[in-house]
Parts: sequence; C-alpha cells; structure tokens
Amino acid sequence: MHNRIKKTLFYVVIILLAGSCAKDEGPQYFVDGSIQPYFNRFMEEAAQRNLNIDLDSMMISGDIRVINAQNVIGQCGHTDTEPSVVIVDKFYWDASSDLEREFVIFHELGHCALFKGHNDISDTQGNCVSIMTSGTSSCIINYTAATREALLDELFTL
Ligand SMILES: [Zn+2]
Repeated sequence: MHNRIKKTLFYVVIILLAGSCAKDEGPQYFVDGSIQPYFNRFMEEAAQRNLNIDLDSMMISGDIRVINAQNVIGQCGHTDTEPSVVIVDKFYWDASSDLEREFVIFHELGHCALFKGHNDISDTQGNCVSIMTSGTSSCIINYTAATREALLDELFTL
C-alpha cells in the first residue's frame, strides 16, 4: 500500500480559465455517493478536534473519474463550474481499501477544505509526519489504524 501511494500521490490543481460563454448557471457541486461517507467522516473528525468544517457550504464536489495524468491518484481542482472539486482516480479507488480511500480523500480535502500545502517532514523512523505528504519525497507513508489518530490530529491542526 505504501509504495503504491507514495509513487502515485501528487497534487494537481486544474485551473480552467473562465470562458465568456458560460451558461447562465451558478457554480454547481455534486458529491458521488461512494465518496460522501468519507466527506462525512472528514467533517466528524474535524468536529472532534473542535474544527467546524462544512463541506456543503464550501460547495466542494467529490467525484471518481479516470485521471489520465500518469501516477496521479487524486486532485483538488478549481474550475469555472466547480469552485472546488476533489477527484479520485477510478482505478486507484476500485483497488483500494477503506483506509487507502480515506487517505486520498482526506489528503485532497486537506488542500481543498483546509487550504494546506504539502508537508514532507519525516519522523525519526522515516515515516511521514503528515497526511499532506507530496508522495514524491523520501518519507514513508504509514497510514494505519495505529497511526491514524496522530495523523488526523496533525491534519486538523491549522
Ligand atoms: Zn497533495
């Protein structure tokens, strides 16, 4: 699991320049039914740490799509029609465990909802101290039931 995430985790922001012929609709948002439980979990974990995050009012979309860029498993993007969208690669999603799915969704929401950048600091064991690792550094991703609490504490410390 760790190598796969490490090799493939990147943060890509897509910015599509606004066209002048946009339809006369306000920004839309949509959360895929299989992503919604992870969005809910993110808000619950934030609330447990006294952080009020409302992904609905932030209009953050969540969708599973085929990401064509190589080695990219997730994105937090901003487009004209989707002010903020978390996209997870369909092939990664289908092959991943619950914890692996949580990892990528929480990482991307770290960008989209918490406005965090990457953190590639490692502890004395060489493990990444943050979910917000770029995935391209030398720190080792070790997101397990045993390390989850501490990593979520770090994530929700702004
Ligand atoms: Zn990232």
